[in-house]
Amino acid sequence: MASIALSHISKSFGDTQVLRDVSLSILDGEFVTLVGPSGCGKSTLLRILAGLEAADSGHVALDGRDVTAVRPAHRNLAMVFQSYALYPHLTVAQNLATPLKLRDLGRTGRLPVVGPLLARTGYGAIGEQVRVIAGILQIGHLLDRKPGQLSGGQRQRVALGRAMVRQPVAFLMDEPLSNLDAALRVHMRSELSELHRRLGATFVYVTHDQAEALTMSDRMAVMMGGNILQFGSPAEVFADPRSLAVAEFIGSPK
Ligand code: ADP
Ligand code: MG
Repeated sequence: MASIALSHISKSFGDTQVLRDVSLSILDGEFVTLVGPSGCGKSTLLRILAGLEAADSGHVALDGRDVTAVRPAHRNLAMVFQSYALYPHLTVAQNLATPLKLRDLGRTGRLPVVGPLLARTGYGAIGEQVRVIAGILQIGHLLDRKPGQLSGGQRQRVALGRAMVRQPVAFLMDEPLSNLDAALRVHMRSELSELHRRLGATFVYVTHDQAEALTMSDRMAVMMGGNILQFGSPAEVFADPRSLAVAEFIGSPK
């Protein structure tokens, strides 16, 4: 797992500057949320960290290594999107195995047939990894189902599992719970916190929901208008907001 350093990141789309000299240091194993109102630049900052978007200026470092010019696939970060992006025609086990099979594809140049192979070998070595991850996520009993037969929360866990099989150095999540209904969202908050504890992995989590940020993060970066206004523990930010804008967004007592 990795520490993350974003330094002096600026980004404009046309005439609109969406990130203004943003710097942020995240510790190895930390759960950090980027929180702020819609349009403040959270997703753009996360995409720059992932390498999916290039900054106009500034640097990205993982474990002290400058990866600003490194392509997304070689940063070994797992991006979990709000749309779960599961293959509807494959089972949960096959969905979990697909990234591993694709990695093999890179080595051999041939795409192994995921489905029949898994069925024949009783999962084999890849199956073992899939089973371990399914166990951690408590979806071991769902391995033979298709995504259409799962609840939203279960699909969310499969998506996380798909990210985990690559053994990434950090998990990046952009509003991963926003498609879920309110009750499930609250339930998944504690599941994600628990998962973070068990994995000890670095999580960078984007949300516009201050309650999510306050309940889940080790530290939260409150963003507005392309700046980080405050970065600290939920207790610090809530009890001691450094500006009226932060206080109003977080809902601190005045
Ligand atoms: P957030 O995730 O906080 O809602 P975003 O990072 O998605 O904010 O967007 C920040 C601003 O940048 C918004 O005004 C958005 O419209 C603009 N923006 C984001 N991506 C693009 C793009 N590819 N082209 C043009 N404008 C964009
Ligand atoms: Mg966004």
